[in-house]
Amino acid sequence: MPLSLESFPLPELQPGEALVRITCATICGSDLHTLAGRRTAPVPTVLGHEMVGIIAAAGEGLQFQTGERVTWSVILHCGECFYCQRGLEPKCERLLKFGHQRLEPGRELLGGMAEYCWLPKGTSIFRVPPQVPDIVASPANCATATVAAVLRQAGPLNGQTVTIHGAGMLGLTACAMAKTRGAAQVIAIEPTAERRAMASRFGATATLAPDSKLRDSVLHLSGGRGSDLALDFAGHPDVLETGLSLLRTGGHFVLAGAVFPAGAANIAPEQIVRRMLRITGVHNYSPQDLGAALEFLGAAGMQYPFAELVPVAFPLPEVNAAVEYANRVRPPRVALLP
Ligand SMILES: [Zn+2]
Ligand SMILES: [Zn+2]
Repeated sequence: MPLSLESFPLPELQPGEALVRITCATICGSDLHTLAGRRTAPVPTVLGHEMVGIIAAAGEGLQFQTGERVTWSVILHCGECFYCQRGLEPKCERLLKFGHQRLEPGRELLGGMAEYCWLPKGTSIFRVPPQVPDIVASPANCATATVAAVLRQAGPLNGQTVTIHGAGMLGLTACAMAKTRGAAQVIAIEPTAERRAMASRFGATATLAPDSKLRDSVLHLSGGRGSDLALDFAGHPDVLETGLSLLRTGGHFVLAGAVFPAGAANIAPEQIVRRMLRITGVHNYSPQDLGAALEFLGAAGMQYPFAELVPVAFPLPEVNAAVEYANRVRPPRVALLP
């Protein structure tokens, strides 16, 4: 179903709220899944959850000034419920998710594919480092922050051999972040040759196709033991089987790619027991992960070609053409400029 351009009045701000003039939004893979019907979303809605902008108006007591360049957590959590108290902010029982809310009178502007976004009180807002351009900052509050959440679960990476499954936006970001955090070997596993070449430019020390030679290659690179850590951003069930088979005894697999139903994996529980493997799932992220993501982009982001991951921009009114381009050409991201 095509998107349409609608107008809504700007909200009058209450204390602690903000109004942001969006300067750049990017179309996430999950937006494309939603538009294609592979993923459900409440409608009507203002789609889009990757964005960056300038504070246009600040409610009383807000810790940000008009004119500051900011991004914010895609989730607004309550901080008080069962899950919030257990560090599972993305699973908040009163969760609000930007770009995923049904339009309600007076609360329409909660998505990124718009000129303005309203930030309710309690939104986790972050300043964007000045050296990070808009097109690099825009995916930070989805892709980069999710990778930061995955690496927080993975723990210290010093000296480790890491396999990264899938070299799209998240996988490439993970290559760069893992390398920056001291991983000794970053092995990107990706079927597309073009993406494997890109992974090398994002810090991967080896790139491999998921073919019959994969296991031997990983064993060879890891002194015969297998990888310490596997990270999945591809989401296919067979990646779970492959990644587990490449782990050393005591290895850890962190999964983040399987965000829509794609069937079941065939894994032997006995392997998990005997080889003392650990599997962790990560969905979305907590606000601290967006802070870590921006810190990473500010400090090391310029060493990697992040801007090339957003090769084209469309004016916001041409959003349907942008979506069509994103589906047909499949660059990691397409930007929308209001
Ligand atoms: Zn996203
Ligand atoms: Zn909560």
